[in-house]
Amino acid sequence: MVVDNKGIISYIRVLKEDLMIFRIKPSEGNVPDFKAGQFVTIGLHVPSEGKIVRRAYSIASPPEQKNVFELVVRWVKKPVPGRLTTELFNRRELDEVLWVKPTGAFTIDDKKHDGTPDNRRMVLIGGGTGLAPFISYALHLKATNSKREIVILHGASEGNDLARQTRSDECSALPKILSARMKAELFRGVERGIQGGSILVSVDGGSDRGFV
Ligand SMILES: Cc1cc2nc3c(=O)[nH]c(=O)nc-3n(C[C@H](O)[C@H](O)[C@H](O)COP(=O)(O)OP(=O)(O)OC[C@H]3O[C@@H](n4cnc5c(N)ncnc54)[C@H](O)[C@@H]3O)c2cc1C
Repeated sequence: MVVDNKGIISYIRVLKEDLMIFRIKPSEGNVPDFKAGQFVTIGLHVPSEGKIVRRAYSIASPPEQKNVFELVVRWVKKPVPGRLTTELFNRRELDEVLWVKPTGAFTIDDKKHDGTPDNRRMVLIGGGTGLAPFISYALHLKATNSKREIVILHGASEGNDLARQTRSDECSALPKILSARMKAELFRGVERGIQGGSILVSVDGGSDRGFV
């Protein structure tokens, strides 16, 4: 049985008309334990459906962040407006949403099967908001002082989307992930194998700004 929990939208950042960052703060207690790469199910009452519609969203914040879940959500507009995202994009800060505890198998293990630490470099490939779980991985590795390297190959349908998702330095969950064009913004970590186009290279950094 689905167990809905209540939460408040504590922060919204508009990256562009159809791309937003949402932070959801549980109304009671902290964010429950989860693993980087898992998703949370968000539920909203959709009047036209006369019921609660629930959809999965990858958690971009790391498990160590206990105040809020951070999500990067695209408003689905075609061929008809998406039910949950259209409702969500009409919500404001402090509005209530429902959430179901995180789950999902798209996680990374800190240890190999034999129990030894897994320090192998990870190469992660994703597009659009598919960047979100990788952000959670990166911030988790940073929070645990891991020296493990990750390389992210990220594509987006529009160059602007890419820039917005990666340059949003007011967003604490978006680590400094670099595109070839943003080389000058390297702030720490090790730059590796930058290639052209929309390929990004991650560093082991992340913003230290707090979550609200
Ligand atoms: C594990 C997981 C993680 C995810 N993480 C993210 C994430 O981090 N960020 C993110 O933005 N999304 C993510 N998603 C996708 C998300 O769950 C939703 O599927 C998405 O937001 C669309 O939901 P919606 O209710 O707005 O659209 P829906 O109403 O479900 O519509 C889906 C599609 O069907 C079309 N459609 C609906 N009804 C009709 C109709 N009658 N005729 C023709 N076409 C129709 C819509 O136009 C749309 O293209 C994730 C999905 C999964 C499974």
